[in-house]
Amino acid sequence: MENILLKKIWLSPPHIGEKEKVYVEEAFHTNWIAPLGPNVHNFEKAIEEFVGNDVHAACLSSGTAAIHLGLQLLGVGVGDEVLCQSFTFSASANPIAYLGATPVFVDSEPQTWNISPELLETAIMDRMARGKKPKAIVAVHLYGTPYQVDAVHAIAQEYGIPVVEDSAEALGSSYKGFNCGSFGEIGILSFNGNKIITTSGGGALLCKDKKMKEKAVFLATQARDNAPHYQHSHIGYNYRMSNVLAGIGRGQMQVLEDRVAARRANFEYYRKNLSNTPGILFPEEMEGSFSNRWLTCVLTPSFEIRERLRVALENENIESRPLWKPMHLQPVYQNAISYVNGISEDLFEKGLCLPSGSSLEEDDLERICAIVKNELK
Ligand SMILES: *Cc1c(COP(=O)(O)O)cnc(C)c1O
Repeated sequence: MENILLKKIWLSPPHIGEKEKVYVEEAFHTNWIAPLGPNVHNFEKAIEEFVGNDVHAACLSSGTAAIHLGLQLLGVGVGDEVLCQSFTFSASANPIAYLGATPVFVDSEPQTWNISPELLETAIMDRMARGKKPKAIVAVHLYGTPYQVDAVHAIAQEYGIPVVEDSAEALGSSYKGFNCGSFGEIGILSFNGNKIITTSGGGALLCKDKKMKEKAVFLATQARDNAPHYQHSHIGYNYRMSNVLAGIGRGQMQVLEDRVAARRANFEYYRKNLSNTPGILFPEEMEGSFSNRWLTCVLTPSFEIRERLRVALENENIESRPLWKPMHLQPVYQNAISYVNGISEDLFEKGLCLPSGSSLEEDDLERICAIVKNELK
């Protein structure tokens, strides 16, 4: 039974301050309630300046929409195959299906938990041998931890396959000094309520080519041709971000670095207090890699112990969550082709995400650690 007298601790709640209100109120005062407007433009500018590496940003209604448009801009269509990291949230893969294409799942490597370069190459060669060259690769910086950027992109380049870099969880993370979101032909961000910064719901498409951004915005605003009447030569979408929500985003960009610091401090607190607890393992940061530590994840020795921990926390009104269930194990993708090595399945069985919000207080962290230690003693 949940103890409702104890303060609820959420896994990753939104963390909003005062700055966001200024821009949202401005939208109200100036009647820029309709989609598009100065907040959208300025939020895009702030993202471009932060991510750097000459990216252009198009703010959209969600990260999922950004993946959908990104794949379409790379020419993915009916009957194509797209390689996708299996260990991820379903939104990385679903847009492949929206386009009538087929996801082919690739398992992880043990260091970053992200797409295995070795298996990726095996998958590419095998698909090509069957006469089906993959049209794109969806690689994910899961939990804010950069994937093996150099190795993955070297393979993508060698075979001439473009990458959609799913940075939904990795705004503020970097690899060898370059920010996540800037490595792929297309990068995507999410501002969903549980992410490191939020607009309540929203996302962005990042690309290197200004023309590609313009195309994304065109498709996201119902694909209207340049004519005084409503004329359409393409199927469009209603995917643009609203000016009100972009106001929240402008305020959140000003505290992004604080949010990253707070999440990394959570991770360090857990590691300091729990790494001597038998049965708890923390992932190591790869050389050259900087994680925003969106969620602190730990590995336990077994499914049973992971569940015992999760339930013990739940009984104290604390939300934790098993690691993502790999796509190749999802009922909806049970018939999909996949290249697996057992890594993501093992992570799913043994891994747990601990509460990781940037508004967590030391008392909360203490409470969580005490329960974990008590359960494993
Ligand atoms: C949240 C998330 C998305 C989707 O973003 P939305 O803005 O919620 O549509 C995509 N990929 C990953 C890995 C995510 O965590």
